[in-house]
Amino acid sequence: MTADSLPRIYLRPGGDKRLRRGHPWVYSNEIRMDDETKALPAGTLVSLHRVDGKPLGVGTFNPHCLIAFRRFTRDAGVTVDHAFLRTRLESALALRRRLFAAPFYRLVHGDADGLPGLVVDRFGDVLAVQTATAGTEALLPSILAALDEALKPRAVVLRNDGAFRRLENLDTYVRVAKGDVDDPVEVHEGDLAFLADPVKGQKTGWFLDQRDNRAFMARLCRDARVLDLYCYGGGFAISAAAGGAAEVTAVDSSEPALGLARRAAVLNGVDGRCTFVQGNAFEELERLAQAGERFQVVIADPPAFVKSRKDLAMGLKGYRKLARLAAAVAEPGGFLFLASCSHNVDTDRFAEESARGIATAGRTGRIIRSAGAAPDHPVHPNLPESAYLKSLVLHLD
Ligand code: SAH
Repeated sequence: MTADSLPRIYLRPGGDKRLRRGHPWVYSNEIRMDDETKALPAGTLVSLHRVDGKPLGVGTFNPHCLIAFRRFTRDAGVTVDHAFLRTRLESALALRRRLFAAPFYRLVHGDADGLPGLVVDRFGDVLAVQTATAGTEALLPSILAALDEALKPRAVVLRNDGAFRRLENLDTYVRVAKGDVDDPVEVHEGDLAFLADPVKGQKTGWFLDQRDNRAFMARLCRDARVLDLYCYGGGFAISAAAGGAAEVTAVDSSEPALGLARRAAVLNGVDGRCTFVQGNAFEELERLAQAGERFQVVIADPPAFVKSRKDLAMGLKGYRKLARLAAAVAEPGGFLFLASCSHNVDTDRFAEESARGIATAGRTGRIIRSAGAAPDHPVHPNLPESAYLKSLVLHLD
């Protein structure tokens, strides 16, 4: 099929400025919603045109969604078929192969990899796939076939249980699309082995995005007493212990997550120096502060406090409070790692709330590192919100 045979949709007059600058989305109020356009099924591949007929590219369309059109290509002459998806996948794979020696990475990161609405995490020969839009859901058979050809995975898990799917009126489900995944899967980061659970774990089963931040923090942990809050499967905690920490206390509210962490600590021979505690991070911090416990390194990598714009004020308060409580248990001369994975909180705002929290705790210090996600989570240059992960490392007085 060529792009010529696709249904056409039209922008309202004057609506192509953002697209011309490279932004890949069109909002529903920017599209001429005549009866024919409104009747297109969610997820239809369409050719987008300016009101004068000029073609602007090919993408997927959902008439019932605020982000109605997502552009896959500016080339009006091609359509998004199996060969197209295969080419995009190969180019995402080539980038990861250049970045990493071992096959543990986010293989596809949505718009930034030219595959809007698609996430693929690779844990060796097991893949965890997320389709966030009706468009990628409709393309799923072709996507799975292309992944199969390119990687021959042993197992593929569809982790389509994220709340984001509701924005597109998609149902939520977890399904093993190929093979069996009865046990957690090993993920290697440098010399360390962790356990991802792509079926029952959180998100895709492992947080690949913090890899570089874990390695950076591990270098500060020699002989230190370390506190890792929101530890999930022990990514920071075990890296810290392997980096020579004297003892690590790691906290998470989820017992299954702690189960992964405890097993991974044994795998890496650091279980003797790691204690995993089930609890609420805020309550645990208050308890530790009252008990006079202090740490040379404190790490706080919480879930997104701002899931949608309406949570912004509350979420920002949460980041400020977390910075205050975490700073309070850090030793003078110690280090504090703070992170936010909220799309709706930008770098400056996160830094501002963190700084206020630390000041409220009566502490001073300096930022020694400000970083985003590892490079297998690329950022679309015209979509600043695709830089969802922000982190700061402070050295405290
Ligand atoms: N730091 C982890 C990723 C953290 S994801 C890594 O490097 O892989 C966020 C974690 O916070 C999840 O494991 C979740 O179970 C946990 N969590 C959510 N709310 C919590 C709370 N109130 N207190 C403690 N942990 C919480």
